[in-house]
Amino acid sequence: MRPSILFPLFRETRTLSGVGPKVEKLIARAAGTRLIDLVFDLPVGLVDRSYRPKLKEAEEGRIATVEVMVRDHLPSQNPRWPYKVRCADETAFIDLVFFRTKGDYLKRTLPVGARRIVSGRIERFRDGLQMAHPDHIVGPDDIDDFALVKPVYALTEGLPLKSLSKAVRGALEKVPEMAEWLDKPLLRARVWPSFRAAIFAAHAPESPADLSPESPARMRLAYDELLANQLALALIRARMRGQKGRVLKSTDAFKAKAFAALPFALTVSQQQAIAEIEADMASSSRMLRLLQGDVGSGKTVVAMAALLTVVECGAQGALMAPTEILARQHMATLEPLARAAGVRMAILTGREKGVAREQTLKALEGGLIDILVGTHALFSEDVSFRDLALAVVDEQHRFGVHHRMKLQGKGDKPVDVLVMTATPIPRTLALTAYGDMEVSRLTERPAGRKPIYTRLLSAERIDEVIVHLRQAIARGARAYWVCPLVEESEKSDLAAAEDRAAMLRQALHAPVGLIHGRMKGPERDAAMAKFKSGETKVLVATTVIEVGVDVPEASIMVVEHAERFGLAQLHQLRGRVGRGSTKSTCLLIYQPPLGDTAKARLKTLRETEDGFVIAEEDLRLRGPGELLGVRQSGMEEFRLADLAAHAELLTTARDDAKLIVSTDPELMSPRGEALRLLLYLFEREEAVRLLRAG
Ligand code: ADP
Ligand code: MG
Repeated sequence: MRPSILFPLFRETRTLSGVGPKVEKLIARAAGTRLIDLVFDLPVGLVDRSYRPKLKEAEEGRIATVEVMVRDHLPSQNPRWPYKVRCADETAFIDLVFFRTKGDYLKRTLPVGARRIVSGRIERFRDGLQMAHPDHIVGPDDIDDFALVKPVYALTEGLPLKSLSKAVRGALEKVPEMAEWLDKPLLRARVWPSFRAAIFAAHAPESPADLSPESPARMRLAYDELLANQLALALIRARMRGQKGRVLKSTDAFKAKAFAALPFALTVSQQQAIAEIEADMASSSRMLRLLQGDVGSGKTVVAMAALLTVVECGAQGALMAPTEILARQHMATLEPLARAAGVRMAILTGREKGVAREQTLKALEGGLIDILVGTHALFSEDVSFRDLALAVVDEQHRFGVHHRMKLQGKGDKPVDVLVMTATPIPRTLALTAYGDMEVSRLTERPAGRKPIYTRLLSAERIDEVIVHLRQAIARGARAYWVCPLVEESEKSDLAAAEDRAAMLRQALHAPVGLIHGRMKGPERDAAMAKFKSGETKVLVATTVIEVGVDVPEASIMVVEHAERFGLAQLHQLRGRVGRGSTKSTCLLIYQPPLGDTAKARLKTLRETEDGFVIAEEDLRLRGPGELLGVRQSGMEEFRLADLAAHAELLTTARDDAKLIVSTDPELMSPRGEALRLLLYLFEREEAVRLLRAG
């Protein structure tokens, strides 16, 4: 239950005066639906009206506030011409210019002979100065009626800044005084204001410096948000670790047999990761480990080692993939290994239905299945294991803290968790999303991998690409061709995969397959199988092939509209090739013109194949929000913290959170009470719920 002191902040924006249904919708698009969203919607700029020159010195193009005397009204003869009000100070004249404005209104606000303060942009017209539609017109003593410096917020079409600013001010009034949750010495050392003061200051910038992420107010707010994030993760971690884990010791019995069936030797990295995982499993506390490894670094066999350990101990393991294709692929690669060891595997996805599904569920409950591979379907209510001891989750970035906690419900005894991700998450981001986990990293690539030749090409040269592709296919090559969108849409100029496939079929005189997100499972598998077997030479795809698909014979990757993809995503796509013995090529086709940032991003990709370097660069160039398609990915999203700028705060917040959890694990001290409020404020109630008196 949210504390009542916060209720007002979580009300809908329509409860604010001046926010009707129409403005509410617009505000929802620009900032959010609740007052708290407005409070956290910090200004992106400011209008500075503090420039107050004499007219003679007024610089053209600048926003100025000037004091003038009204001299004359010059109504227009023609309705299409503007109405002018001639004004002057001691140094020069200026015409205030109005289009479609009623003369009597102007006569009332600007009577001849009156002194007025007007604010707006100074323009030069013929020989004189003018100001079109001043933003403010007030009497000489009423300059306080408008702020000389005003915050500017990110808007959405149709939403006037005035309406949003007013709503934000209304929301700010509801921010209550709250007990300080930050450590006093930290506050003093950093010279930070209180949360409330910081929020007000952040919304009232007086100079560009106040907008910088390094301003004390913004630092403080960023820290609050990061601390909430880190504290929530630390609480979850403490809770999970607090539960006694099972002692699962590898006997090597099955593993030795299964791995004897592998056509290669494990890399040192793989062996190390397996050792770390086995140590976790053999200990009496629960395992919560993240296995990070670039595309193709060989995470699957590491997972298999862990799964087999569990089976050696007489328990069951589950391997969960983000897509059906991947689940089937895991099944296909691991099943032979399992068979070699006499271990029973089965698959469960949304596609297993009816009798087959019933049988699998029954066998699972009866302990006749040792390892179950599947998709999110493994979470379904009716799936129960006889004795689940380990869950491996592949491609963790679609998998948030909530999922991790939910998984917990599946075993009677604590379930060890191993998550694998091919997304080379920068260290800072890893900390925010996986702060509750230990990390193993696969740092080498399996032997025999060749570097991939990466080229950037303008879309104008697509014909050349097709010529080369035709030659390569004649030599026996196989290629992926990735388009960003599936559907033909009049509105977008995106290359539609369907059209592209048809076009390539003609141009290449070769069988071309198509695979996209709208396809049903069996269709998709069939398309994949044909490409794998070589029946089709080119596979046109949307990003469904993004993760994990393994066709070693494919040596060419073409990506259209590369500028629309995240770097991490492109890196993953590129990782689909370079898996076999032939030299591979990745062609990144972009739509010109390309902005500087976009160019820099694509260049990074051309220059390195190190996923971690790429990820750091992506974070630097784009910021975390865009990095992985944060919303859909389950990655943390921050509203006040800017991970590129506040990385240093993150480590402090992590240490702070650790200390809090070790000294006040139930948040019962006075500071603990305040910290609960912080967790609610940033909507981390899942963590509060874990507390005894939550
Ligand atoms: P990812 O880390 O992307 O999930 P996979 O586990 O799918 O990578 O492995 C990619 C490919 O590399 C597979 O074809 C796998 O059989 C192969 N592979 C894995 N480990 C090794 C190794 N030590 N030596 C050679 N090939 C390996
Ligand atoms: Mg994989």
